[in-house]
Amino acid sequence: MVSHSKFEELKASGHLPSPKGAALQVIQLTHKDGVTNQEIARAIKSDPALSSRVIKMANALVAYQMRPIASMVDAVTVLGLNTVRQLVLGLSLMDGSRSVACRKFDYQGFWARSLLTAIAAQNLVLSSGIGSPEEVFILGLLGQIGSLALATAYPQEYARIIEKTEADVDAGLANLERAEFGLDHNQLTQAMLADWGMPRVFQEVALHCEDPGQSSFAEGSRDWRLLNVLHIADYFSRVCLTQGPHRRKMVPKLILIATRVGVESDMLTKLGDKSVQEWHAWSKLCGIRSVEVPSFAELLEAVPLTPDMLDIGEGLPNDASTFYKLRILLVDDDLAVLFLLKTLLENAGHTVVTARNGMEALGLLEKSMPQLIITDWVMPGMDGIEFCKALRQNPAWRNIYVFIMTAQESTDRLVEAFEAGANDYMTKPVNPKVLGARLRAAQRVVHLQEELEFDRQQLHKFADELAASNHRLQQLALTDVLTGLPNRRFANEHLERQWALAERGGRPLSCMLVDIDRFKQINDTYGHKMGDDALKQVAHALRGATRTEDVVCRFGGEEFLLICPDTPVEQAYQYAERLRQNVAANCVRGDDGQAFHLTISIGVASKKPALLNVELLLQLADKRLYTAKNGGRNRTVAA
Ligand code: GH3
Ligand code: MG
Ligand code: MG
Repeated sequence: MVSHSKFEELKASGHLPSPKGAALQVIQLTHKDGVTNQEIARAIKSDPALSSRVIKMANALVAYQMRPIASMVDAVTVLGLNTVRQLVLGLSLMDGSRSVACRKFDYQGFWARSLLTAIAAQNLVLSSGIGSPEEVFILGLLGQIGSLALATAYPQEYARIIEKTEADVDAGLANLERAEFGLDHNQLTQAMLADWGMPRVFQEVALHCEDPGQSSFAEGSRDWRLLNVLHIADYFSRVCLTQGPHRRKMVPKLILIATRVGVESDMLTKLGDKSVQEWHAWSKLCGIRSVEVPSFAELLEAVPLTPDMLDIGEGLPNDASTFYKLRILLVDDDLAVLFLLKTLLENAGHTVVTARNGMEALGLLEKSMPQLIITDWVMPGMDGIEFCKALRQNPAWRNIYVFIMTAQESTDRLVEAFEAGANDYMTKPVNPKVLGARLRAAQRVVHLQEELEFDRQQLHKFADELAASNHRLQQLALTDVLTGLPNRRFANEHLERQWALAERGGRPLSCMLVDIDRFKQINDTYGHKMGDDALKQVAHALRGATRTEDVVCRFGGEEFLLICPDTPVEQAYQYAERLRQNVAANCVRGDDGQAFHLTISIGVASKKPALLNVELLLQLADKRLYTAKNGGRNRTVAA
């Protein structure tokens, strides 16, 4: 905490820089409600030197105007109260502190840097629309006033401290100041701004502007943004005023702190060059020397970014990192944005692949198989909307969760994004807390979707297995276990089918009923087991002697049915005879070496117009089989 008494002591000593005379009066007047331009003009005119410089500056600032500014009232009217106040305050402090009290303190350099900080802060505010540009200008100009005050109040001691920091860069200026004076330059700045009646937010901003992480502002809030604008502007002027190779080493940090508040590299380039240009003009007016700074396009070009440059703060909320790890494809044309988000997401345990535009991202889908895509909206080549549309056209990518990142000002065009297929959106700059919350929603959806997909696949697998086992059961239901031949049920169905085909094609169809002769005796003589073996061997013989298009079925105990498509009755008869002779000629053999002969009788029937259906065909075959038995067995009857 600032030592209040320490500040009072310093103030009482009269060594602190402070606006005096006309300047003090102007500042007090601008705080007053309903002050007129005439009153302000009168106050400035009471200091002729000051008033001539204000008119000179006013003319420089509005050089585009046709008519030159001749009077102080004109100047106040054209520039506005706030700008005049800035000019007066700045000029009066600069005028009062150009003398060399502290031999190591660079007074010229101090004001040059303060001026550049003020201009950069103003340009940042103008581009982002937060805060008032005039106020932020003052804050920039006076944000380091504590250093000047310490150098003025303690010239010898401060020179020694500067020498120490020159010798040891890590010594820490603020630490040395606190040890020596009981307060550091930031604390002193805060106290001085408070003393000049600046708003509390400004005091807090000045206190933490070198290390914004120390402030209590909520990330993303208006005050937080203002603090970061000052932080960026302060660091920016430091980069510009650092000469030699060291400057390039400072650039990555500048890129990163700017990106965190949504100032991306192309914007930084534009604002950087503009600020430096304006700085040269202002320096001339204020009688301060400025230095040449290379163009920012050149400075920012091909800067390597590494995680150690990054103070990521708390990172993503913890639950987002532990819940469900995602494969993420990150698409943005700005390298620093890619780098920041990638680091944030990877630190939370996710796998991240990056692309610079939609086209490149499409090419990476196959390989990276992302579950979540976070894409920028505005990108050269293929923008976020076109990318979403292209993505959703392919069924394979239809389920990927997509966040689109938008600038604040394009939130009213969000419908467009959702219509293109985005699932959610985030405004830039991305706030880690918001990202964490959105990520959790995405994780939940992706997780559910994958569970669903898993269930779907399981169901498919079960369905396939069921179909296979049904098929097996069906086979079993249609197969005779002993002989492996199709059973009577199959025989009936098959015969119906062949009947229909023959009918339609006007083609012949024959069937034969085969019955083993005196089989009962075989069972009685050789035993039931031998009977079974005999059945199997006859089945095998019949199967082996038939054409592939013919079907042999076990029709009953020792009865077989042969279905022979495209076979007229004469041919069927010959065929049956061949089978009969074949069976009669061969021995049936048992396991125990026993062998004997058996015979079969066959009734043949063929489809003819008089037979109206399958039953009649079978009846005819059965009748003929009966005839064959009666005729003495081991014979074929076909008519
Ligand atoms: P026929 O010449 O008049 O046909 O005389 P058969 O003895 O063959 O006829 P019958 O119908 O009187 O007897 C058939 C026998 O077939 C009776 C039954 O025990 C036997 N049989 C039926 N199925 C099987 C079987 O799966 N295994 C065995 N071992 N015998 C069977
Ligand atoms: Mg029999
Ligand atoms: Mg029989």
